[in-house]
Amino acid sequence: MTIHRTPAIEGVSTTKTGAGSTNSASGFIKAIESGSKHLIIKRFTLRYPEQKLKLTGDGYQFDPKRGVGIAGYRGRHILFHDKCTGCQLCAIACEGIAEAIGMVKVDEEWKQNKKSIMPQIDFGKCVFCGLCVDACPFYALYMTNDYELSSFTKEHLIYTPSQLAIKPKYDGDVELKIDKMGATHG
Ligand code: SF4
Ligand code: SF4
Repeated sequence: MTIHRTPAIEGVSTTKTGAGSTNSASGFIKAIESGSKHLIIKRFTLRYPEQKLKLTGDGYQFDPKRGVGIAGYRGRHILFHDKCTGCQLCAIACEGIAEAIGMVKVDEEWKQNKKSIMPQIDFGKCVFCGLCVDACPFYALYMTNDYELSSFTKEHLIYTPSQLAIKPKYDGDVELKIDKMGATHG
């Protein structure tokens, strides 16, 4: 017959030795401390979608001239058609990550984009890593604060170049406050 042993949980003693009792007591004290702290900390929950967190800034960007990323939320991308050259570097960057970017034909004519191709992004595959933004040398692709991408169909998660060009409306109104007690909201 095989006997299965349940592994010991950190801070909880499974023996009756002196050391085990000390661990057990310190685990108990930590649990009480943690529980008491949460009695005075304001709970961080929002009544979404009635309440939405106010995200500041424009979303994640990358400055190719300086070679630095500009911190921001990594939500739905925005594509600037007047800057996109169709170089495909964003799609190549995504190949080893999620294969979420496909280059597609657009009806528009831009002198910087001879082949008239631009990225479309499948948000059913995208992992929001931002590498495509880092790869774009022409300030054409950034991310935004838009995280409301849920859809009933997979097809609706594929954003064409025209859809990516639309600046998302973001109506978050609840301010995030961070202090030494943690994060709370108003
Ligand atoms: S952010 Fe999305 S689309 Fe861009 S490289 Fe990462 S997975 Fe691909
Ligand atoms: S978005 Fe940037 S990297 Fe992608 S095709 Fe356009 S210019 Fe090239």
